[in-house]
Amino acid sequence: MTSAAIRSQFLEFFRSKQHLIVPSAPIVVKNDPTLMFTNAGMNQFKDYFLGNKIAPNPRIADTQKCLRVSGKHNDLEEVGVDHYHHTMFEMLGNWSFGDYFKKEAIEWSWELLTKVFQIPVDRLYVTVFEGDAKEGLPKDEEAAAEWKKWIAEDRILLGNKKDNFWEMGDTGPCGPCTEIHVDTRPDEERQKVDGRTLVNADHPEVIEIWNNVFIQFNRLKDGSLQPLPAKHVDTGMGFERLVRVLQNKNSNYDTDVFTGLIEKIESISGQGYGKTDNKSDVAFRVIADHIRAISFTIADGQLPSNTGAGYVIRRILRRAVRYYYSYLNYQQPLLFQLVPALAAQFENVFPELHQQQQFVTKVIREEEEAFLRTLEKGLKRIEDIIGQAKGSIAGKDAFELYDTYGFPFDLTRLIAAERELTIDEEAFNKEMQQQKERSRAATATDTEDWVVVNEDASNSQFVGYDSLEAKAKVLRYRK
Ligand code: ATP
Ligand code: MG
Ligand code: MG
Ligand code: MG
Repeated sequence: MTSAAIRSQFLEFFRSKQHLIVPSAPIVVKNDPTLMFTNAGMNQFKDYFLGNKIAPNPRIADTQKCLRVSGKHNDLEEVGVDHYHHTMFEMLGNWSFGDYFKKEAIEWSWELLTKVFQIPVDRLYVTVFEGDAKEGLPKDEEAAAEWKKWIAEDRILLGNKKDNFWEMGDTGPCGPCTEIHVDTRPDEERQKVDGRTLVNADHPEVIEIWNNVFIQFNRLKDGSLQPLPAKHVDTGMGFERLVRVLQNKNSNYDTDVFTGLIEKIESISGQGYGKTDNKSDVAFRVIADHIRAISFTIADGQLPSNTGAGYVIRRILRRAVRYYYSYLNYQQPLLFQLVPALAAQFENVFPELHQQQQFVTKVIREEEEAFLRTLEKGLKRIEDIIGQAKGSIAGKDAFELYDTYGFPFDLTRLIAAERELTIDEEAFNKEMQQQKERSRAATATDTEDWVVVNEDASNSQFVGYDSLEAKAKVLRYRK
């Protein structure tokens, strides 16, 4: 089954259960001081849970573009090293706003996975919340009872507050969740450890695919929990992981979500994926992953820049450039060449990329060209620095790499880690602070037409607008 068919089946299934299918919200969040990027399907529905707005339908389903590279959910370091965490991914979701609850949510999850998608029952595990006496949180007996109707008891595992209880913040809506994990190992291997309970923390091929959150309490300021008058369901399933399971692959990158991009990178770079060393394979995966994050955020109006959300995109882009430069032995702009394939792949799902293909391509190409101009010198300089470092890179050296060669701090940290070195982050931040004070006058002119939130102090150096940023301002004002 193709990934496109899998996505459609998910949506059709919930349409047949009276869900309204809505479009993905933009991946870039504006006007929310608590969030830079959409990191879960529920973000766009927050006001329905808080009771500030009424949902257009009590049941909704969609596929949401998500990005997990900052804040509470930051999976960047995992990407490409493991085979199932991405920066940008699609989260399939179904919601009940004061309508159905645990019984239907669990029954339908099971029906979809085992009847429609026909995942063998003996590959599935579920987790339910075990309760937390110290916090006054009860065990989720109801979810456990619902699961017992469908799955053998020894496949229902108890999970702690960290994994199985969801809270929006210190106060507000919250509740237990139940997760579904799939054991994707070959039969022979699974039989060897039969009887042992596995969840994704134990094995990289036993992966979490779906989380069902049951929002049933309101946490008050004094810490107490009140039952909510209207209870809600909020679910999220990793699309690329589901596709991997249904296409019987060991890696998300071996599914048709990614193979087109990987082949394109092969033909551009002249290197083969899965043919040489692990380093170049990681590079293939990182590039195939990062181009999606970069392209979709730009298409949603966030240009790379030196501050806030824009700097997050620039960092991801520079990280990808360094991977092809160092590990695919390709020293010209590469990423921009992948945009047409990506835009075509998603034309019917997220048409905004196709519609702005030329603009997105141009932005990425200019960014790559600019960074490639200083990258080689920067890599030489870091070799000198590494040669002299004793266990740790000094803050002033990391700052020089940042300031003179455009190396984001986390890129320097990545290269340092590859050589088993750490960096003095505190001293780096101090250098940044001093720089900021020196250029305070210039920084004052760096105002946007919306608030740049969660801005990391170390990322807020003002170095002037390039032509694309100037253009972006015009575009943003027009919106
Ligand atoms: P994990 O434990 O694997 O990091 P999570 O518990 O952080 O996942 P949730 O917040 O529960 O994830 O999100 C719902 C679903 O979204 C997950 O069950 C998973 O299938 C998918 N998902 C989460 N993070 C990623 C990611 N970085 N890349 C791809 N899919 C993801
Ligand atoms: Mg996670
Ligand atoms: Mg998890
Ligand atoms: Mg989870």
